[in-house]
Amino acid sequence: MISGGGRCNVTNKIWEPDELVKNYPRGGNELLQPFHSFNSKDTQNWFESEGIRLKTELDGRVFPTTNDSRSIANALIHKADKLDVTVKLGHRATGFSQKANQWDIETSNGNLVTDILVITTGGSPAIWKSLASLGMAIVPPVPSLFTFHCKHELLSDLPGISFPNATAKVGGKPIQQSGPILITHEGLSGPAILKLSAWGARELHELNYNFPITINWLGLKDKQLVAAIKLEQETNPKKHVINKPVLDIPKRFWQRACELSGITVNRNYAEIGKKQIHKLIDLMLKFNIQVTGKSTNKDEFVTSGGVELSEINFTDFSVKRFSNVYLAGEVLNIDAVTGGFNFQAAWTGGYMIGSSIKV
Ligand SMILES: Cc1cc2nc3c(=O)[nH]c(=O)nc-3n(C[C@H](O)[C@H](O)[C@H](O)COP(=O)(O)OP(=O)(O)OC[C@H]3O[C@@H](n4cnc5c(N)ncnc54)[C@H](O)[C@@H]3O)c2cc1C
Repeated sequence: MISGGGRCNVTNKIWEPDELVKNYPRGGNELLQPFHSFNSKDTQNWFESEGIRLKTELDGRVFPTTNDSRSIANALIHKADKLDVTVKLGHRATGFSQKANQWDIETSNGNLVTDILVITTGGSPAIWKSLASLGMAIVPPVPSLFTFHCKHELLSDLPGISFPNATAKVGGKPIQQSGPILITHEGLSGPAILKLSAWGARELHELNYNFPITINWLGLKDKQLVAAIKLEQETNPKKHVINKPVLDIPKRFWQRACELSGITVNRNYAEIGKKQIHKLIDLMLKFNIQVTGKSTNKDEFVTSGGVELSEINFTDFSVKRFSNVYLAGEVLNIDAVTGGFNFQAAWTGGYMIGSSIKV
């Protein structure tokens, strides 16, 4: 219900398996074949066949046209009702044990016996512990999809300003992402930062969320910014630099960058020299800042870690060591960047299991 800021970003418009897998820092290789059986196009067809109208936003995210997660939740509940699925509320699973060919599920409300055990408990530490006691390897969980805390006079009092084509790179690591970056009260957010947090989830955890990053706010090369400034110097030499940003740079950000570059209020374009231009380039294209912590991204977050993927047979998501146990969703060491891809992994696993078990 709280997914996608209450709107449920149910999947993404990217459906070609080769492209879809590029959005999974963990699990991409393993999901390639399953995505040939059930991908985001199938998800959309499935919900639409259940009467849920969907829409695709400009950035590729797919939502119900109602902008309300209840539409998606209700479709699943109605389908389960129609298929006579029994839902036992108040039965928290606390352990699993094998009895001959069956499984005994210990719950907070008595034991249940089953021929086939499908576990889709998401990021539950207690369940990972139970699965570890059955011999399964578990990759220790760490958070993914978070925003960065950082402070600098270039950013202070400028929350809400965003740059559509920025690039961010973690200092000393091959972790780099491009896309929109948003200045927030606490530091930085936006798709490029969230992608960085997903691809770097494990390494950034090891660094205790304390690391340097370099930001190119405009995604440009030095010579492109220099050329834009030179053009202003030629065409508008008498204009005050502070009042006339180049390249549609947000005015308040440009003014702050000018101040920090020593370009005073009355300085016009004809009066700025190499030193100030270099300082502007450093702030706009090679801005170094220390990240000192993180915050949860409220619209979507996920756990990196879970059951080691080598434990799973991805033709049907069964567990290799127990043929009648299946796992799907976040319980596995699969996670994606933001955009509906995390749900897609869960839908695909669910479909593969549902269509392969015989009851
Ligand atoms: C705030 C937020 C917003 C998100 N928004 C999006 C989004 O818009 N798009 C997207 O793609 N992804 C989104 N995600 C990620 C997405 O929700 C998960 O990746 C996805 O729900 C995983 O599905 P799952 O079925 O594996 O686990 P879950 O959806 O977590 O479901 C696990 C279920 O198992 C139950 N359970 C757990 N332990 C036990 C137990 N011991 N016994 C019995 N039952 C148990 C839980 O109560 C729960 O109902 C969001 C995540 C968060 C936290």
